[in-house]
This record gives sequence, C-alpha cells and structure tokens, in this order.
Amino acid sequence: MLIAGNWKMFKGPEEARRFCLELRDVELPLDVDVVVCPPFVSLESAVQVLAGTEIGVFAQNCHWEREGAFTGEVSAAMLRELGVYGTIVGHSERRQFFGETDETVARRTAAALEAGLQVIACVGETEAERDAGETESVLRRQLSVLEADDNLVIAYEPVWAIGTGRTATPELAHEAHEIVKSVLDVPVLYGGSVKPENARGLLARTVVDGALVGGASLELDSFEAICRAASPS
Ligand code: PEP
Repeated sequence: MLIAGNWKMFKGPEEARRFCLELRDVELPLDVDVVVCPPFVSLESAVQVLAGTEIGVFAQNCHWEREGAFTGEVSAAMLRELGVYGTIVGHSERRQFFGETDETVARRTAAALEAGLQVIACVGETEAERDAGETESVLRRQLSVLEADDNLVIAYEPVWAIGTGRTATPELAHEAHEIVKSVLDVPVLYGGSVKPENARGLLARTVVDGALVGGASLELDSFEAICRAASPS
C-alpha cells in the first residue's frame, strides 16, 4: 500500500520543514509506504528532515531532458542530486492548465524512470468524458503511451473528483482500476477527494493499491488517519 501526499502549490520551505518534523514523529503503520510531494522549492527541506526515515520525498513533475534551455523546468538528474526519490507526472492540473499531453507525460515518465526515479503517472477522465461513456477509451488512450516498469505506479484520478469533495464510490474506482490493470500490470492508486472518512472503503478494494491525496495531505491529522486506514492491521 502506498499513500502519497500531493501538496500542490502549498507549503514553502519553512512550512514544509515544520510539517516534516511533525510527520517524522508520527508512528506510521509499517506496512504502508508513505511519501510526500512538496513543491520544488520545498523539496530540499523535506529531504533533509526526512533523511533516515522510511518516508519518501517525491517531486510533482520533472522534465525529460537532463539539462537545457527549458525555462521553468527541472530534470530528473537534478531531483536525484537533491535526494528526491520519485516524481508525479501528468497530474490532471498539469494537463488542464499547463498543456501537458499524453506525449509529454510519456516523455517525462520515461526519462524519470531512466534516471532511477519512481514515477506516479496520473490518468483519469473528466466529467464530460464520463457522461459521454468515454471513461474506458480515455484511460486506454492515456495509458497507451506508457510501459510497465517496476518503478511505475499509476494514479487513477477522475478529474471531477479532484479537489471537489466528490469522491468516486469504491465500486466505480474498482471498475476503473480494473481497466488500468488490464492495460498495465502495475500498482494503481486512487486519487480524488480521499479523506479519512472515505479512505477505508476505497482502500479495502483489492485493486486499489493506495491513494494519491491532495487536500487531506496538508493537515497532519488527516494525512495520518489516511495512512492508518491503508493498513489492514
Ligand atoms: C490530487 O491532487 O491528486 C488530488 C487527488 O487532490 P484532492 O485529494 O484534493 O482531490
């Protein structure tokens, strides 16, 4: 089971440092892998505070080139140098607001894996696509550019459930995860308004291998509660 906290554009270096100091002192279940994904500027303080713990630090994106004239981008090699363990790619907010495409997601994923990072690659349909009965074809298209890898995890994140308070039912998540797993044999996280109250039901599904958590990962209590819900023990 993997629980990843996506902080999005929250928590600068000082706030990240304080949060990680508190997180370090929490007794998290041993059978749950826990990672936090701070903004780029806060990665270093998170890595420093969490060094020597089992809690991993992931970035929220990474470029496919090692270096070059790509203003505003950060490479996998740079993340590795910082002690970052992995990265999210293809989050729907990047697809929606920053022109991320299936092709750029594929390039970012391949480069990050090649550089030795773990990757959480995000897929998911919009509300309009679901209403039009296109969920399966959208997922298949988004996944068609990716290849299974020991260090690759997919996050199924229905766009209509992200940051909206609307969560997929466990049944609906189950269906979507089965589609993902029929294309790529890798662990699949659910993401979309996961909260302490709904985490157990979602994570109890055999095809749900963890969660990518946005809003509820920003507060220690709710993040800890979700990590606990991920542990059957
Ligand atoms: C996310 O950022 O990946 C996410 C799922 O956000 P939230 O939990 O806030 O819906």
